Amino acid sequence: LLTVEGVWKSFHGRPVLRGVDLEVSPHEVVSLIGSSGSGKSTLLRCVNLLETVDDGAILLDGDEITDPRADVDDVRKRIGIVFQAFNLFPHMTVLDNVTLAPRQVHRVARDRAEEEAHDLLAKFGLAEKARAYPDQLSGGQQQRVAIIRALATRPRLMLLDEVTSALDPELVVEVLGVIRELKQSGMTMILTTHEMGLCRDVSDTVCFLDGGVLLEKGPPEKIFGDPDHARTREFLRSVL
Ligand code: ATP
Ligand code: MG
Repeated sequence: LLTVEGVWKSFHGRPVLRGVDLEVSPHEVVSLIGSSGSGKSTLLRCVNLLETVDDGAILLDGDEITDPRADVDDVRKRIGIVFQAFNLFPHMTVLDNVTLAPRQVHRVARDRAEEEAHDLLAKFGLAEKARAYPDQLSGGQQQRVAIIRALATRPRLMLLDEVTSALDPELVVEVLGVIRELKQSGMTMILTTHEMGLCRDVSDTVCFLDGGVLLEKGPPEKIFGDPDHARTREFLRSVL
């Protein structure tokens, strides 16, 4: 579904991604782990074309999306992204937040967009909150709305960047539940996280980034149980 081939990215002459290769299959859940500054968010931002790559290529369903002629809006329709800070529009209700992209980008009629939004909100336990404003919701609820908003455009791929790290521990559980449900529904996802419990729980594949190099990847049992690299072991020892 997604292929990342030899991607390099520098900021001010300093490489942040150094020839990253990554293959993501349909329905696969891939986690990116690694120290702060190792390039996890930058990689997600490159996939969503929020950053341009210096070298290498990214393909989505066989289309080279890093081709300068690629239609950025079209790519973003096919990829949903959710960040650590929820980035909901504070002056808009939950319903308007969720229906904005389908209506404006996809030209879905208001009635249909709202119907689908109500379905999604109900599915994730937020049916009662459609008319609420973001500041009337808990952090966990806001993050669930942010995820629902990204889902409303029916993306092929979801990118989740530290979606639980701004939340109190008891609220993390709610968002974890949403991620598990997405996985069950067959959504393909790439997520970054500092929470190894979450990573182990939902990932099919775990990738360890070290200074912009994708040093090691494998199933969670392998990465957590018997990593090949000393650097991976060191990192895990420091966070577990
Ligand atoms: P964290 O775990 O803290 O979220 P990360 O692995 O997501 O870290 P990135 O955000 O990808 O790390 O950042 C990698 C490096 O690139 C950091 O040194 C960061 O300062 C730098 N960087 C990221 N974005 C920019 C930018 N727009 N301009 C300059 N430097 C940047
Ligand atoms: Mg980050």
